[in-house]
Amino acid sequence: KNEVNIISGALELRKKTVADVMTHINDAFMLSLDALLDFETVSEIMNSGYSRIPVYDGDRKNIVTLLYIKDLAFVDTDDNTPLKTLCEFYQNPVHFVFEDYTLDIMFNQFKEGTIGHIAFVHRVNNEGDGDPFYETVGLVTLEDVIEELIQAEIVDE
Ligand code: ADP
Repeated sequence: KNEVNIISGALELRKKTVADVMTHINDAFMLSLDALLDFETVSEIMNSGYSRIPVYDGDRKNIVTLLYIKDLAFVDTDDNTPLKTLCEFYQNPVHFVFEDYTLDIMFNQFKEGTIGHIAFVHRVNNEGDGDPFYETVGLVTLEDVIEELIQAEIVDE
């Protein structure tokens, strides 16, 4: 039965898109670039349970880098280190995909390793009078794609 599930899941990957499985940007746990890594903020990060935290500058849709939990290993919360200092040191790149990518393409991208295991989702916004622009609408991880593949929720640790 498991095998049947995985095979049908693999076939489904071509029908579903990133938009179907992404986490909406409003639901993402993120940090502002001007945050201080004081005890309160680091506690919030730890309590969120996420291992990758998007960092935005000004607007939540303006994601500039990623904070990995492991980057906090040498941070002393008594120092109130600006998040920006840490981000400038690690310079973790962010990668973008389009919301209409199908999940088989997404799976291959994650597998190739060129975009890491998390990507941010762009939508072409051509509403209104202005020029079309890329709007960041969500994030997608390898786990979101694998869940579609095995047709089941992965319960987090
Ligand atoms: P983690 O390793 O941090 O638990 P996963 O890659 O296993 O993250 O993803 C688990 C789920 O959490 C996925 O649905 C993913 O879209 C979502 N997710 C990952 N990072 C964040 C975040 N910073 N804020 C909100 N949701 C997130």
